[in-house]
Amino acid sequence: MKKIGIIGGMSYESSIHYYERINDGVNKKLGGLTCAEMLIYNVNFAPIREKMLKNDWEGIKNSLIPIAKTLEIAGVDAIAIATNTIHKIADDIEKEISIPLIHIADCVSKNCIKDKKQKIGLLGTKYTMEEDFLKDRLKKNGLEIVIPKSKEEIEEINRIIFDELCKGKIKEASKNYYIDCINQMIKEDNIEGVILGCTEIQMLIKDKDIDIPVYDTTQAHIDSLVDFITGEKN
Ligand code: GLU
Repeated sequence: MKKIGIIGGMSYESSIHYYERINDGVNKKLGGLTCAEMLIYNVNFAPIREKMLKNDWEGIKNSLIPIAKTLEIAGVDAIAIATNTIHKIADDIEKEISIPLIHIADCVSKNCIKDKKQKIGLLGTKYTMEEDFLKDRLKKNGLEIVIPKSKEEIEEINRIIFDELCKGKIKEASKNYYIDCINQMIKEDNIEGVILGCTEIQMLIKDKDIDIPVYDTTQAHIDSLVDFITGEKN
């Protein structure tokens, strides 16, 4: 069995799911009392978020690269960053370590491709929706990515993530807002599926809420990590 190192805590509301579901997934495959050997480095999200707001991505790199190195020195076989947004610096982290980084966008792309869905809506933080770091990786994997059109929608989707979901608050009004945004992309852009490109959105939006396939980055990442741990090809 391989060991995985997770950079988590961003937010801890979604990292909890990694811990629980990775253990569950490994146990389902291997049975008995088997669970996963993993190290979770839970960072304090508050100073990272402050740096995000100041656009201080160098500072975020300086905080997280040593953590990836610490996990590598501790003996893990691969690293996972349990947030989409922080994949903005995934390449910088990958350069500094000599073990693989299991990229969340590759994990979710695989599921869209398997279903032969190509034109896909993307919801996430404003960094994930507006900037290219995740979209480019998804495009490189063969997907065409659509994001909500208006600045207001992007700001509100982002606000709900940081003010509510990252604090464990699940609100009906926010759920309906997300559903409306997705339905609008279905109507106007003919998207064939939607990527929940933020590890907390799965707490708000479920498959049954939407008429097209929902591709959750959290679960896709977890499934690939389980495959890696148990030695299945991913
Ligand atoms: N967990 C979120 C994501 O997947 C947002 C929090 C963060 O900025 O890391 O993007």
